[in-house]
Amino acid sequence: MKKHFLFFLVLSLLLTQFLAAQTVQEKIDSAAIVQIKDEGMNRSQVMEILSYLTDIYGPRLTGSPNYTKAADWARSKLATWGLHDAHLEAWGPFGRGWSLKRYYAHVVEPQVFPLLSYPRAWSPGTGGVKTTEAIYLDAKTDSALNTYSGKLKGKFVLLNEPREIKVHFEPEATREADSSLLKLANADMPQPRRRRFEPSPEEKARALVEFHKMELCHKEGALAILTIARGDGGNIFVGGASVPVHPDTPFSRRIGAYDPKAPKILPQITVAAEHYNRLVRMILKGHRVKLEINMDVDFMKADSSYNIIAEIPGTDLKDEVVMIGAHFDSWHGGTGATDNGTGSAVCMEAMRILKTLNFQPRRTIRIGLWGGEEQGLLGSRAHVKLHYGEREGSAFEPSGKITYKPVAEKFSVYFNNDNGTGKVRGVYMQGNEAARSIFRAWLKPFEQMGASTLTISNTGGTDHQAFDAIGLPGFQFI
Ligand SMILES: [Zn+2]
Repeated sequence: MKKHFLFFLVLSLLLTQFLAAQTVQEKIDSAAIVQIKDEGMNRSQVMEILSYLTDIYGPRLTGSPNYTKAADWARSKLATWGLHDAHLEAWGPFGRGWSLKRYYAHVVEPQVFPLLSYPRAWSPGTGGVKTTEAIYLDAKTDSALNTYSGKLKGKFVLLNEPREIKVHFEPEATREADSSLLKLANADMPQPRRRRFEPSPEEKARALVEFHKMELCHKEGALAILTIARGDGGNIFVGGASVPVHPDTPFSRRIGAYDPKAPKILPQITVAAEHYNRLVRMILKGHRVKLEINMDVDFMKADSSYNIIAEIPGTDLKDEVVMIGAHFDSWHGGTGATDNGTGSAVCMEAMRILKTLNFQPRRTIRIGLWGGEEQGLLGSRAHVKLHYGEREGSAFEPSGKITYKPVAEKFSVYFNNDNGTGKVRGVYMQGNEAARSIFRAWLKPFEQMGASTLTISNTGGTDHQAFDAIGLPGFQFI
């Protein structure tokens, strides 16, 4: 017994040493990292890059003229730094391009004030300055909705219920605390997610009334639809115009307003929650509220949109590819700084640093800045399909079988930068336990900068999923 115990003790000691050896096997070029940090911290150009992507070329709505201008700028910048094969990679067809020519909105009765609001992307215009009454469509049931028949023609319709604005006692932004990072680090292996969220019968009934409200506005010929914005305290989240869709329509058959096949829709405007609530309160008190709105937009042909691709060729292992990337497209309400100018600027700066220091990497290092992320990872999915392979079925209903192109074999890894791109705190391993010791070693030199957490957890909603979907290692930073 004792002998056995000793044997196991020796064996486990050996094993520990073997595992330790495995861990240190990951070779870290400390001298290169010192140079990278020096270039990045002392001669950074990241804010200048970001300023061009936002102040000058923002916003970068997919398929819009601004997107193309920004993409041209980024491509030529990458080429100027000496990156190889800097080019725009067309994908598509995307759909219609859209840009805003003029917009303003005022409340003019019972008193005048500017209405904090934005047009929703791919919304049609109002056809000039329009001054007319605002109607609050106060209906939670179809029978309540019927009472509005014949009252909506040529009117601005407030579609949603008001929303209570809560006071903010918490800070607007926080760093991940040690406790939350520890929780991430201790997370269990991610479980496959339920295929789709199934709405409850009540939610279904509500969605149906919402659909009927939209239908009524269209049938009656309302002038425009006003919805309440997500966010408060000066934040207005604005996305694409909605195409009215029966709640039973499968997700794979729903289309965006940018799709040339989309049915004709009414002009749609998102109003700051505080102002929306005020309009509703005035109307409910029996006051006649009149708005003056001018919304002039331009639609253009956008058969394709573009990813921006460039690389630093490798040496002895040049067929193997390490890729970094971020989505380049943004929504149109702001300049597209946080989502995702920051991620794009960080990736461009990383390539600039590597090129400036003139490293000769063994593997090819490639950058991919994606279009169409906000419309469903369109650019990155197209890139993966074009170069590496595809999984049977649609993005919404993927089935099992993956067909790979030969180069997929040589694809090492993809690293994505999105999700607001705050300080990098570590890596989501996407259930890839085998990557742990590699990342552990890589992050060691960045521990003091706050990036040391490894979590087996998944994170979703952005372009690493396009790679992950066909089994290529794709990661997103914490
Ligand atoms: Zn994003």
